[in-house]
Amino acid sequence: MQKGAIRVQTENIFPIIKKFLYSDHDIFLRELVSNAVDATQKLKTLASVGEFKGDIGSTDITVALDVEKKTITISDRGVGMTAEEVDKYINQVAFSGAEEFVKKYKGQGDGANIIGHFGLGFYSSFMVSSQVEIITKSWKPDAQAVRWECDGSPEYQLEETEKTERGTDIVLHINEESEEFLDEHRIRTILEKFCRFLPVPIKFQDTQI
Ligand code: ADP
Ligand code: MG
Repeated sequence: MQKGAIRVQTENIFPIIKKFLYSDHDIFLRELVSNAVDATQKLKTLASVGEFKGDIGSTDITVALDVEKKTITISDRGVGMTAEEVDKYINQVAFSGAEEFVKKYKGQGDGANIIGHFGLGFYSSFMVSSQVEIITKSWKPDAQAVRWECDGSPEYQLEETEKTERGTDIVLHINEESEEFLDEHRIRTILEKFCRFLPVPIKFQDTQI
C-alpha cells in the first residue's frame, strides 16, 4: 500500500471547487462519463492499430445508483490505469490543474465552464462526494489492479486490489448535502441531458439511456 499527499499548495481545494460550481453540481456526472468514454475510445484505438490483442468484449458504460449505500458507480471497460498512471494522471496532473485554476479564478465569478480546461474534470466528483474510490485495471498484459481512495483532503491511498475485468470503476460516496443525487429520476434526467448522444452506449440501472 502506498500513502501520500496529493501535491497541492492550497490546504484543501474542495471548498473552493464547490464554491465555484455551486449552481452546477450535476456536471460531475458528465465529467465522469466523458472520462469513461475517452478510456473506451482509447482502447478501441489500441485495438485498431493491433496493440491491444484479444477480445474487447462489451464496452458499455454503466452508471449504477445504490440508495442504501449512498453510492453512484460509473464503470467502463476502457484502457484502465496502472498504479503509475493513477499517480501521474490523478495525483499529480489533476491537482496541478486545480492549483492553476484557483490561482487564476480566485475571487471571480462562475467557474463552471472552465473546469474542463484545467484538468479538474475528475475532481469535480468531490463536489458531491465525501469519499471517492477508483478501482482500475489497465488493458496492459498482466497489469495489477489498483484501488485509489481519497476523502477530499490532499491525502490519498493507493493499494493493490482484485479486479478481474479490464477498465475502471469510479465509486462516489455521496455527501450529506448532495443526497438529491441519490434519486433515480434525477440521475436519469442528468444522463439524458448530457449523455444521450455519446459514441458509446450508456446504461443506467441496466437500461440504456
Ligand atoms: P481530462 O479528462 O481533461 O484529462 P480529468 O481530470 O477528467 O482530465 O482526468 C484526468 C486523467 O485521468 C485523464 O486524462 C485520464 O488519463 C485519467 N482517467 C480519468 N478517468 C479515467 C477512466 N475512467 N479510465 C482511464 N483513465 C482515466
Ligand atoms: Mg475528463
